[in-house]
Amino acid sequence: MNSNTTKQPNKFTRFLRNNAALLLLIFCVLAITAVVLAVTLTRDTAVIPDDPVVGNPDDPNSGSPSDNPPTPSTQKIDVYFSSPLDYTDVGLEYTDGEETLFVWKETLQEWSTHYGVDLHAAEGTAVKAMYDGTVIKASSTFGNGYFVTIDHGDGVIATYASLKDTEVKAGDAVKKGDVLGYVSTTAENEFKEGAHLHLEMTLNGEAVDPMPYVKGEVYRTVEVTA
Ligand SMILES: [Zn+2]
Repeated sequence: MNSNTTKQPNKFTRFLRNNAALLLLIFCVLAITAVVLAVTLTRDTAVIPDDPVVGNPDDPNSGSPSDNPPTPSTQKIDVYFSSPLDYTDVGLEYTDGEETLFVWKETLQEWSTHYGVDLHAAEGTAVKAMYDGTVIKASSTFGNGYFVTIDHGDGVIATYASLKDTEVKAGDAVKKGDVLGYVSTTAENEFKEGAHLHLEMTLNGEAVDPMPYVKGEVYRTVEVTA
């Protein structure tokens, strides 16, 4: 028993001595594997990405996608009503009917309320929408001739009358500057006024003086996507 126990270390020592080169090789392989594994794991968990993120110089939010999800930037701008045509002068002016100022209607040969303005211009002058809107009506009457009524939003409705014809129809969406028709003398009530645009406007159902709109004094602040 004693001899057995003393023999085994000898065997083991001999084994080590005989296979030293092999053991050294195995140790080296294990060591190299360990180093490679360590480097690989370290790289995988690194915070800094391998490729640098190149930001777009035009976009201040770029380059940091995790912090700032892209949100559309908006800005507020003032959009003015604009004159519906290049007019030479104002014929009949607006009266609200409650003031003592009435206008003499040459054609009708009587004093009456004029819920609008007459903007004189050469026959055939283009009449344009003063603001974006939706055409409510495009028709004609004996008194007003061909006319277009547009809902300009926010309670503002404008009727462009005494047109030669209508270039739009009910339901059409119009943009500011779109041509609605052309100046003429089709409004029989006012044909002695000569070629003109008869313009009536209401705000929340009440007649208002169109001139501040025509002169570009009325605007709305709208939000637009930059
Ligand atoms: Zn008129």
